[in-house]
Amino acid sequence: MAVAELVKEYSLDEALETLHKNGKVLSKYQNFIGGKWLPPVKGKYFVDHSPINGEPIAEIAKSTPEDVETALDAAHAAKKAWAHTSPAARAALLNKIADVMEENLEILAIAETIDNGKPIRETRNADVPLSIDHFRYFASCIRAEEGALSEIDNDTVAYHFKEPLGVVGQIIPWNFPLLMAAWKLAPAVGAGNCTVIKPASNTPLSLLVLMGLIGDILPPGVLNVITGPGGEIGKALASNSRIAKIAFTGETTTGRLIMQYASEPIIPQTLELGGKSPNIFFADVMDKDDEFFDKALEGFALFAFNKGEVCTCPSRALVQEDIFDKFLERAVARVAKIKVGNPLDPTTMMGAQASHDQLEKILGYIDVGKKEGAKCMTGGKQAHIGPDFEKGYYVQPTVFAGHNKMRIFQEEIFGPVLSVTKFKTLEEAIEIGNDTVYGLGAGVWSPMAPTAIAWVAKSRPAACGRIAITCIRRAQRSAAISSRATDAKPTRSFWSIISRPRTCW
Ligand code: NDP
Repeated sequence: MAVAELVKEYSLDEALETLHKNGKVLSKYQNFIGGKWLPPVKGKYFVDHSPINGEPIAEIAKSTPEDVETALDAAHAAKKAWAHTSPAARAALLNKIADVMEENLEILAIAETIDNGKPIRETRNADVPLSIDHFRYFASCIRAEEGALSEIDNDTVAYHFKEPLGVVGQIIPWNFPLLMAAWKLAPAVGAGNCTVIKPASNTPLSLLVLMGLIGDILPPGVLNVITGPGGEIGKALASNSRIAKIAFTGETTTGRLIMQYASEPIIPQTLELGGKSPNIFFADVMDKDDEFFDKALEGFALFAFNKGEVCTCPSRALVQEDIFDKFLERAVARVAKIKVGNPLDPTTMMGAQASHDQLEKILGYIDVGKKEGAKCMTGGKQAHIGPDFEKGYYVQPTVFAGHNKMRIFQEEIFGPVLSVTKFKTLEEAIEIGNDTVYGLGAGVWSPMAPTAIAWVAKSRPAACGRIAITCIRRAQRSAAISSRATDAKPTRSFWSIISRPRTCW
C-alpha cells in the first residue's frame, strides 16, 4: 500500500470496505480448528460491534464446550508431529508468519482499530509491529536454545533440555487483542506446543483475520482458535484435563476462577491480572524546564495510552509535596492536549473504549471519585466527538486529586482516569506505592538516577514486578514482566513457562 494511503483518514464504512476487499476479512466467522474453518457445533453466532459508533461489524461463532473438545481433538492429533519438528523448521514457520503479517500490516491495523477502538496510529506503529516482532523474537530464541550438563560423579552426567508441554490452553483479553495473541502464541507454538486459544468476545476480529492470512502456514491442529463466552468455553478449556497448561490475561477475579478450575485436574497456570501502578515524580523533575521535565510530563499523560485499558497503566501518580501544585498545573495542561477522536483518523491520540460495558464502568468510577470528594482537575465526563459517533464509547481523559485510600486509587478502573496524590519523603512514596492489592508495575521519575534507584532498592519487597526508571512504557519483547500473580511474559530467560525441563542421565 502506498505511503500516501497509509496516512489517510477512514470512515468506518471505508475501513470495512478496505477490509472486505480481497476477501481478507469476512463478515461471518466460524472457529479455526484443525487448519480449517468449522461451524460451531450448535450453529449459534453472536454479533461483534465496533466501539467507534456501536455498529455491527461481523458475526462470530458462539461456541459451546463441544467445540472446545473438537479443538482439543485437533490439537492432540497434531502434537506429536509438531513436538518432533526441528527447532529450525519451527523457527522458519514463525518467521513466515511474521512476514505475512508485515505484508498485511494495514489490514490488521484497521481490523484492530475498528474492533477495539484504539487509534490507527497505535495499531500501525505499535500493536501490529510488536505482534510481528514476537514471532521473530521467539523464532530466534528457539534456534539459540541450549541445554545444560551437570556432573553427578565420575561416571555419570545429567543432561537437561527443554521439551514441549503438549497441548496448552490460552485465554486472552480485549485491550491488546492481537498483541496478546502474539505474546501467547509465539512462545507456545515456537516451543513445540499445540494450542487452543480463545479471544475476548468484545474483540475477536483481528485474531480471526490473522488466521485467514496465516492459517495454512502451520500444520493443521497446531493453532486452533475458538470464539464464544468465557464463562462457558473459557471455563471448559481451563478446567480440561486434556491441556498441560492454561495461560490467562484478564481481570483478577476471573484469574481466581481460572485457578479454581485448573486446581481439580492440577493444570499449571500463567496468570497476568490487574494493576494499579504508581508513577512517582520526585521534586527534582522540575529543577529545570528542560527535555527531561517534558519527558516526565509525557510519562504522566501516559495513563491515557490505549484509553487507559492497560494492565500496567500508570493510573496512580504520586507527586512530591514541594512541587505538587505547579507540577499538576503543567501536567494537567499536557493532558488537556490529548486529542480524543475517530480512531481511524491518524491524528487521533485517544479513541473509543473497547465496549459499552467498559464505558459504563469508567463513567461509574468517575462518579465514585466525585462522590468520594476527589477534586476533578480535568475531564470527568463522557466525550462527544461528533454526530456520527454518538453511539460510540468515548471518555474525556480525567485527572482526580485525592488520597490513596479512595476507591479510585485502589480499584482498577481500566479507563483514562488518573488518581493523583502527594508524598513528602522517599519512605512515604514507598509506602503509598506499595499500598495496593495489585502488583504489576511502577514508574519512578527523577533526573538524579540515585534517587530513582533508591526507590527501587528500598521498596523491596515491592508490590510491583516491573519498575521503569524515567520511562513508563517500553513494550520490548526482551523485557520480562512479572507480577504478584505469576511470571506473565516469557522471555528467553523465562522460557520455562511454556516448556518443561527434562533431566536424563
Ligand atoms: P475478563 O477477565 O472477564 O476477560 C478476559 C478473558 O477471559 C476473555 O477472553 C473472557 O471471555 C474470558 N473469561 C471471562 N470469564 C471467564 C471464565 N469464567 N472462565 C474463563 N474465561 C473467562 O475481563 P472482562 O472482559 O470481563 O473485563 C472486566 C475488567 O477486567 C475490566 O474492566 C478490567 O478492569 C479488567 N481487565 C484487565 C485486564 C488486564 O490485562 N489487567 C484485561 C482485561 C480486563 P469473554 O470475553 O467471552 O467474556
